[in-house]
This record gives sequence, C-alpha cells and structure tokens, in this order.
Amino acid sequence: MSVNKIYLLDHGKITADLGWFIPNPMTVEDLKNPKSKNWIDVNVMSAVIEHKDGIILFDSGISGKSKEKWPQSAFSVFPITSFSEENEMENQLKKIGLKPEDIHIIIFSHLHLDHVGNLELFKDSKPLVILHEKELKYALFNAWLNKPVPYLLQDLELLRGMNIVPVSYDYLEILPGIEIYLFGGHTPGSIILKVRTQNDNNYIFTGDFIHIPEEFDLENKGWLLGNSEEFYSRIRLLKAMMKMPRTNVIISHDPKIWDKYPKSPKELR
Ligand SMILES: [Zn+2]
Repeated sequence: MSVNKIYLLDHGKITADLGWFIPNPMTVEDLKNPKSKNWIDVNVMSAVIEHKDGIILFDSGISGKSKEKWPQSAFSVFPITSFSEENEMENQLKKIGLKPEDIHIIIFSHLHLDHVGNLELFKDSKPLVILHEKELKYALFNAWLNKPVPYLLQDLELLRGMNIVPVSYDYLEILPGIEIYLFGGHTPGSIILKVRTQNDNNYIFTGDFIHIPEEFDLENKGWLLGNSEEFYSRIRLLKAMMKMPRTNVIISHDPKIWDKYPKSPKELR
C-alpha cells in the first residue's frame, strides 16, 4: 500500500434541522419552541490523501462564495453558520504546503453543493475528476429539469470543462490502497472511499451515505434518505467493513469529527 498520509481539511460548519439526518418527530412542546432541540451544527470537510503515485483530494467542501452561489431554498434550510478565511480551500491546502495545482486526482462522494464548492480552483490545472456515472446523470437530469435539488448547474458546467472520469462500476480500485464502492442510499451515485495506509490502517470515508453517527445505531436516515433499499442493505455491509482490524470511519458532517481525528496540518497515517 502506498498511502503515506491523510489530512482532514476543515471547511467550517452548516446548521440544519436534525430531521434531515435522523427520524426526529417534533413534539407539541417542540412546536412552541421549534429551534430548541431540533437544529444541529455539522462540520464540512474534505481530505487530502498523499499516495506515492499522486495527491488525491476527496470532496472539495464549500467556499466563501457559497453563500452567494447557493439558492435561497438551500441556504435557508442549510445555512453556513461558521466559515472564515482560514476555511477556504486554498488556505487549508497552504497549511500542508500544497497549492490547488498540486492535486492530481479529485474523487467526489457525490455532487451536492456542499461537496463540490471549490471546482473553479482546479479548472485550469485539470486534475482527473472521478465520480460515479449514476451521480452525474442524476445531477444533470435534475438540474436540467430545474428540480429543487441541491445540485448547482454552474458547478456541473465547470465539471464539463474538466477531465472527468465517470465510473460505471460498483467497485473500483483507483490506485493501490484507494478503493471506491457505489453505495447509493443518499443520492443514486453516492460512493464511499476506503483508504489503506502504509501502516496498515484503514480509513473509510462515508461521504453522505452517513451524515451523523446516530444513523449507525438507528440504521436509518432522516429526510436525506434517498433510497431506503440501498441504505438498508449497504449499512450492514458498511458495519461489516468497519469490523475489520484497524478500521476507522470518517463521517464528513460528523458534529464531533474534530474530537475524534486531528485537523490538518496534523495527519493520519
Ligand atoms: Zn453533504
């Protein structure tokens, strides 16, 4: 295996009703004070993986421009509540001595606006952009139909000019130690990423197949559940994968992610 280091980049926080993530019915008491317990802060992150054959970025977070780019319909339900200059992708990369043009491959868990927010930084250096074909088709179809979905046509147009590699398989080893699995569940083309380091540690990046850890206990999702059949079968597979020795799970929106794993410039090995 040839993954030396993994860095987790911090792109701030968004806030949302807990009901998006887990079934969380409101009580009569909640109705009197609707924001009391039903809204939570979740983190937004991406990851840089240093492989001997290239530097890989997993997802690309949000940017300072996201507030203007996102439609009001998205921003009113998922407001960005914490984002500073330090959280910009360029500054997060700078902390580990990298520039956007140093990235060779970008892997997208899916194409929702909080995961592809920095495409313009990479449009000239043309990294390979790996995503699932099902995700691209679903995003394009829904954006073209003008459906109220969290895909931005301007992000998809930026992608058109890039070196995209739409993967049609359910499983692919991209480089030794770097594997993607089609899981769906959240969006039709949602993938998870499994990384094995030189130290024989495994890191599973769930993307938004899992948003917050409570989904594991409940084996259920809230309004962000896209396809229940896919979710219910793959969550058992994911739990089995997590039982492998030295396996860690990294949930992009985990509210406690920074209590569990160090932030860049500290690294995972
Ligand atoms: Zn997300």
